[in-house]
Amino acid sequence: MSDAGPVLRAEGLHKRYTEGGLDVPVLQGVDLAVPRGRTLAIVGASGSGKSTLLHLLGGLDTPTEGRVTLLGRDFASLDAAGQGAWRNRHLGFVYQFHHLLPEFTALDNVAMPLRIRRQPAEAARARAREVLGWVGLAERVLHRPAQLSGGERQRVAIARALAGAPACVLADEPTGNLDRGTADGVFALMLELAQREGTAFVLVTHDATLASRCDEARQMSSGRLV
Ligand code: ADP
Ligand code: MG
Repeated sequence: MSDAGPVLRAEGLHKRYTEGGLDVPVLQGVDLAVPRGRTLAIVGASGSGKSTLLHLLGGLDTPTEGRVTLLGRDFASLDAAGQGAWRNRHLGFVYQFHHLLPEFTALDNVAMPLRIRRQPAEAARARAREVLGWVGLAERVLHRPAQLSGGERQRVAIARALAGAPACVLADEPTGNLDRGTADGVFALMLELAQREGTAFVLVTHDATLASRCDEARQMSSGRLV
């Protein structure tokens, strides 16, 4: 594993789905490098393939052609358990809908990825408390998702993504479900934490203004980055 290369690299990515005997091309030759600690926005119309690309970058789905390397390691060179471990160690995920576990407190939601890594409960909780402080929720650690606002839930989801100190966070329309003012604040928080923690972020957004605040913005159009 080299320390100099990009955190994520996609080379010649194609993704096709077969539907009713028809081949549907979704990604048509995507090349991308995410430098360490940098923020990259991906903008594009609905259906252009942004979520498909993020799934491939996260090793959650396999390309029809091409390859994805995370910190120099090709996902395809690992078995399923190895992929899961590599992903859990080095990536964080944020989605449009928070995907928090409703019966768990904010603290235990954020501690979850660390528990999956077999960290002892007390250490995982201490780290979760620290990261919830970063996102301004030190006073809300024992709240359940239903007791939090939409913006607060997304901040818990960001804390969960960062708890394991990943090299990169993949965020698929993380502010897409928030009102304008809240979206601005949540987006600014992600950029601030990216810079402070040296974490790369790939941010899918519809919003060109938000995208322009990232280090780089790429446009997805019909399965290609233009
Ligand atoms: P975006 O996130 O940019 O809105 P997606 O990556 O979700 O776009 O989808 C791109 C295209 O791929 C769409 O036409 C969608 O219908 C198709 N697609 C996505 N997932 C599947 C799937 N599992 N099976 C078949 N088609 C899919
Ligand atoms: Mg999408």
